[in-house]
Amino acid sequence: MIEQRNICRKCILPDGFLGVNLNSEGMCDFCSDPDHKNINWSRREISNERRQEALANWNSVVEEMQQNHGKVPYDCILGYSGGKDSTALLDHLVNDLGLNPLAVTSDTGFMTTIAKDNMKDTLAQINVDQVLIEECIPTFTKIYKYHFFNHNSNEIFLARYICDFCSDLIHSIVVKEAIRREIPNVLFGYSPDQIFRYFYEMPQEEVIKEWKPEILESPFFDDSDSRWYLTDEEIENGNLPRVLLPYHVIPYREQDIIELVESKNYIKKGHADPLLTNCNVVHAATFYDFNRYGGILYAYQYAELVRQNPESRRKWLRTLKMSAPLILENTFKQREVNDFLEQIGVSQEEMLEHIKEQLEKDPKRRQIETNINMFRKKRRNKKPIAVPQ
Ligand SMILES: [Zn+2]
Repeated sequence: MIEQRNICRKCILPDGFLGVNLNSEGMCDFCSDPDHKNINWSRREISNERRQEALANWNSVVEEMQQNHGKVPYDCILGYSGGKDSTALLDHLVNDLGLNPLAVTSDTGFMTTIAKDNMKDTLAQINVDQVLIEECIPTFTKIYKYHFFNHNSNEIFLARYICDFCSDLIHSIVVKEAIRREIPNVLFGYSPDQIFRYFYEMPQEEVIKEWKPEILESPFFDDSDSRWYLTDEEIENGNLPRVLLPYHVIPYREQDIIELVESKNYIKKGHADPLLTNCNVVHAATFYDFNRYGGILYAYQYAELVRQNPESRRKWLRTLKMSAPLILENTFKQREVNDFLEQIGVSQEEMLEHIKEQLEKDPKRRQIETNINMFRKKRRNKKPIAVPQ
């Protein structure tokens, strides 16, 4: 059994987990203070008033799109990934609202076969046009490579960085397509729990200021990379589309979404599981993070679920105990992780060596190694890392 005294007695976060400490009563910062925030995680609550306002706005946007329907080539652009949420949103736009969206997909180079199959099956049944952008793949690869080799934070998970930089690039590419075609609304199918950065609308100010990363100025990148981000000219022309996240305001139940996409044969049974469509980059970043920080970004999310439903604590502890050694030793998504590492040109051993160098410079090294050992020790036939006394 996992040593319980190392783990928050209310949720599942271990003592010393990135930015988290247990107090004398064995409770973590997040459990002892509901308003606690750190750079990796903060709980965000949206007031009912704000939600209603956003819903009213969405309804007016829909009305406007319906009024213009037929007068423009496309009513809106949908960022389409082949996952269950963007697939269900596509169905909603076309079959419930009678709209004609343009589905825009930017290939990161790490799209899973399942996501590609999903798109084929869906577009065979929903008659919309799709733009598949593949020329951006080298830029995605460079962004990943840059972060895996240059991540040197003692405070922020690699997965947090990677997901933010990668989604900013995806958003940029889709928005540029909208600018080029003068389409005023861009939609993404983010689910209601994905509100860490945005609720309902990505504010234009952030679209302009935050999406283009400073790392582009590094000699590692060139013009062939910056062309995927908004140019000064595009920004100055002021014709930026609105970027909206309808599932933050319209009804959303994960189970209903899965049933919908499976019953309409858009996605094969069992293939709507988010773990399957999750990209391999995330799996690789998770492998990195666990070995580097003794924890993973998702643990914050699971811990929040436990706080909301204390009865689920045992289930999540068991999940943690089972999956932690697999992630640490890269046997959870081994093939996916290794494929990814190969594509960015590094072996698993080299990556572990790189992680070790980073870990050695971390002032919290001892606590991190204690946590890693706590999870690793449970596996038989594996030697625990020696913790200096
Ligand atoms: Zn806690």
